[in-house]
Amino acid sequence: MRYLEELLKVPAPSGAEGARRELIEKLAAPFADEVMTDPLGNLIVHKKGAGEKVMLCAHMDTIGMIATRVENGFVRFAALGGLDVRDLQNIPVVFENGVEGVLSYEGKTPAKERRLHHCFIDIGDGKVCVGDRASFSGGLRNLGTNLISAPYLDNTLGCAILLEVLSELKECEYDVYFVFTVQEEVGLRGAKTAAFGIAPKFAIAVDVTDSGDLPETDVVMETKLGAGAAIKIMDQSVVCHPKLVGALKACAEKNGIPYQSEVLVAGGTDAGAIHLSGSGVITGGVSIPTRYIHSPCETADKRDCDAAVNLIRSALEQAILI
Ligand SMILES: [Zn+2]
Repeated sequence: MRYLEELLKVPAPSGAEGARRELIEKLAAPFADEVMTDPLGNLIVHKKGAGEKVMLCAHMDTIGMIATRVENGFVRFAALGGLDVRDLQNIPVVFENGVEGVLSYEGKTPAKERRLHHCFIDIGDGKVCVGDRASFSGGLRNLGTNLISAPYLDNTLGCAILLEVLSELKECEYDVYFVFTVQEEVGLRGAKTAAFGIAPKFAIAVDVTDSGDLPETDVVMETKLGAGAAIKIMDQSVVCHPKLVGALKACAEKNGIPYQSEVLVAGGTDAGAIHLSGSGVITGGVSIPTRYIHSPCETADKRDCDAAVNLIRSALEQAILI
């Protein structure tokens, strides 16, 4: 994952993706025919071809916190995207302006009753205003040989995978748009306008998905770390086009790429907005099984990321999307 560590260093809470967009634009430009930013802030990297339009999509925004009230060095906040209060217990965070903080909670409230409005960010005498966004602090760590752990693998992994596909892509007859979307975590918003503007025939959203391989987990899914790229069949936002699902599986088998099947029981992806765009788009997803999603310690397997790059690149070069 050549680009992952560099991307992780640039926070991109929903609605404030600008710095990460600039970095991705710089990394993508040498391999692109044209690069555009649309009015919502989606970065669209075009690799021209004579064939059908294909939209590959990864959201560049991440979940985060946004300040709602600042009082005596303590910041109350609202969620940008899906924050689980169980993950928010005395953890380091950093605001866009560089102010560091500790996210903690009112100790008098029993854990079972704790909600986001019982939490606060301690910033000492740092200066933060209403509307400033904060992100989890922390960089990339290796767990053993194959696992990586960091805040915001969701969906920095997807961005790194698309950049890798772009940089490695050889002959390709498709007209390919690599789209790095904004505001997925607050409701698939960027993907909606990007898909309308591009009007692709096919689309693949690349994102993380849950894994069912933790001890005594309540996640009833077969996906597990290290078993390959997860080909999405369904989540709560989309039922993927069966022909595209079949084509991706056939492509993986033909090229000896490890894959697994994904039915995500809670949550959605940009695919949900894209497939309903215009008069409809043939849409699928390639996902990376990830543990502890939306926590500061999201954990995935590098081999699944490599498989995702190979699968998407092979499907494009061999023109077998359907
Ligand atoms: Zn995501």
